[in-house]
Amino acid sequence: MPELPEVETIRRQLEKEIVGKTIVDVWWDRPKMLRPRPEAFVNGVKNRRITGVERKAKLLIFELSDGFFVCHLRLSGRLLVRRKDDKPDDYVHVVLKFENNKELRFAEARLFGYMQYVESQEELDKILEKYGPEPLDDLTAGEFFKILQKTSRPIKLVLLDQNRIAGVGNIYANDALFLAKIHPRTPANSLSASQSSSLLKAIEQVFKEGLKYGGASDQWYRQVHGEKGSYQEHFKVYGQAGQVCDVCGTKIKRIELGGRGTFFCPQCQTL
Ligand SMILES: [Zn+2]
Repeated sequence: MPELPEVETIRRQLEKEIVGKTIVDVWWDRPKMLRPRPEAFVNGVKNRRITGVERKAKLLIFELSDGFFVCHLRLSGRLLVRRKDDKPDDYVHVVLKFENNKELRFAEARLFGYMQYVESQEELDKILEKYGPEPLDDLTAGEFFKILQKTSRPIKLVLLDQNRIAGVGNIYANDALFLAKIHPRTPANSLSASQSSSLLKAIEQVFKEGLKYGGASDQWYRQVHGEKGSYQEHFKVYGQAGQVCDVCGTKIKRIELGGRGTFFCPQCQTL
């Protein structure tokens, strides 16, 4: 799933490509991908100009000349900026057409991603209030420690819980825990203030690296012109089972935690 660095890469690119453009038409063929209903979505966005592209955690927020729409890419969504006569892309189920022959194609192989029309700022605030604070933005070391103190669940699962901390997914959780030398199963409330602070720094570091490389394209994620990011060439432990740890040479292990593949160095990250 695209995480904060991937969605932020897309946001920055979209900002350059579509801000100031008016949506003149919408094509779609999967009703469940347009909320609240396709007709309401089309009526809400058609003939509106895009005035800004923002992001909260993994959610993209499109500001319109009147109202908003949001887009969640879930596991396999891609947003592609193309010209009308460019060759077709696979799995495209929604197309926003602009006045200048350009279009925004929403490709989604698994159909879990969606776009949702949001009429007012109040309605938008309601959607955003369920997200926790996010690293690189409003999550401070003190607040992070407090969040971890509240639960004995394994630290890795807490990092993935978007209500507590927003923007971290499986790739960056694994790599940040490795950098901070913390075992993924460690109960969150057993971490000391200094471990918690190194973990937050590690998350910020892997996010910055992810941004620098334009995200991780080991699976579905692509940038808005279809290019791959390259953070997958710099994974520390994620997806590296059987490879050796850069720090100590021990083989990286894979376990299942909360149903997700979890990677760590058994020598550097002890319980
Ligand atoms: Zn190691």
